[in-house]
Amino acid sequence: MKSSENTTSDPELRSLYSSLPSLNDLLLNADFATILQVESHSTVVRSTRAVLLRVKQEIAEGRYTHASLKNFLAELHLAVADEINQRKRYSLRRVINATGVILHTNLGRAPLSASAIEHIVEIAAGYSNLEFDLETGERNRRDVHAKELLLRLLSIRAGTIDENSAAAPRAAVVVNNCAAATFLALNSLAEGTDVIVSRGELVEIGGGFRIPEILAKSGAHLREVGTTNRTRLADYEAAISAETGLILRVHQSNFSIEGFTERPALQDLVALGKRRNIPVFNDQGTGLISSLEGLGVQAEPTLLDSFRLGVDLIAASGDKLLGGPQCGLLLGRIDLIDRIRKNPLMRTFRVDKLTYAALEATLMDYVSEKADSIPIFTMLHASPLEILRRCEWVASQVRSGDLFAEAVPVLSLIGGGTAPAARLQSSAVSLRHATLQPQALLRALRQVEPAVIGRVCDDTVLLDLRTVEPEFDATLVSLLEKAARVASVSNPLSFDQK
Ligand SMILES: *Cc1c(COP(=O)(O)O)cnc(C)c1O
Repeated sequence: MKSSENTTSDPELRSLYSSLPSLNDLLLNADFATILQVESHSTVVRSTRAVLLRVKQEIAEGRYTHASLKNFLAELHLAVADEINQRKRYSLRRVINATGVILHTNLGRAPLSASAIEHIVEIAAGYSNLEFDLETGERNRRDVHAKELLLRLLSIRAGTIDENSAAAPRAAVVVNNCAAATFLALNSLAEGTDVIVSRGELVEIGGGFRIPEILAKSGAHLREVGTTNRTRLADYEAAISAETGLILRVHQSNFSIEGFTERPALQDLVALGKRRNIPVFNDQGTGLISSLEGLGVQAEPTLLDSFRLGVDLIAASGDKLLGGPQCGLLLGRIDLIDRIRKNPLMRTFRVDKLTYAALEATLMDYVSEKADSIPIFTMLHASPLEILRRCEWVASQVRSGDLFAEAVPVLSLIGGGTAPAARLQSSAVSLRHATLQPQALLRALRQVEPAVIGRVCDDTVLLDLRTVEPEFDATLVSLLEKAARVASVSNPLSFDQK
């Protein structure tokens, strides 16, 4: 630090540098004594050094006059306190999702139900029978935990009361996510063989998960059939050869093709697979249990449909429309699941006890008819009128003179690569700031704690309250006012104008 002071030839900069107090002087200052009462000496020293270093850099960049530096130094203790708080912050933090996108992958997809959280806390705090059979006292496999409940749930909903009925014995395993499930299934069942896929389903799911690439990595050979918009059952049938190991059906979850399109019903593919003795693997993706038709979302395929149709193997995400933790579910024929379980790679994709705890509790919510306590259900089914009322209330409470808030109609998205065409009628708090551009206001909203994540539309910031828990409404009001203040202070136009 000293060197930069000594090497500069600019007398103005030298004089600014020399007005900086020494660390020792600062620590004797009364304001610092207050901080030292609650923070350790070394913490205060480290943070003060960091703040002083930053100021020196800013001086070098010509960002201070004597007057503005003096103002800043008068409140240096606040900057240090701020620095200390910053250093205590976790990297992973709670945010308020006001985007209206219910399954926002960047914001962590599905929030968990109260029972899932309770079960995680219980299991995390102590030991558990993760791989231990309490009956025999012997070692057990971890994958028994969610399996029974998943199969019970699907059997109950499908109307086949006995989940272990000989008619269609099924098994299941849980892995880290649906991408892992798909990879593991392909590698376990189709390595070195042809996998038949429609050209309309060679999709990228997001985050770089591309079906052709995953398929190649799994060691299977892609056998494309049909065209982007039209694939017929006959195309699949014609492609079947002695080399065929699997027929893959991928849910075109994150886009929709409209117009001149055709693809066989899943049912017909299953029948073809049975006839020709080729297993059908359905990357179902969403994990949706019951249809969304009540919300006006038509023809979104469900995990239950795939199960009912007796698809040989199904993969689905745990944290999309199932509303549980991040994981991948693989369920299907016992012989196929056995091959997957025996794959040495299974060990590398296994999930931890907290995932089992959350998944099991989420499934239990469904089985015990408490599915409406799963947060994504509350959000999916929130009444537009209710959301409008909340937006009006929040808008009416904003007292900042710089901020103009009103309730406006918007459309929410389901997100997470599900039901891409679906829109849910909703409302948002629309915000304008007296001097700030919407992007700057949006940024200021991300800087408060907890951060508020909204979106810009035309020249306003929109906060869709469908995805905000109602208990945060009052907090939101104070966060908006805080953001308006933060924004005015950090507005570059007001920098150095003190
Ligand atoms: C979302 C999705 C995936 C990937 O699931 P992750 O759990 O995010 O790995 C795979 N396939 C389909 C069809 C999907 O919709």
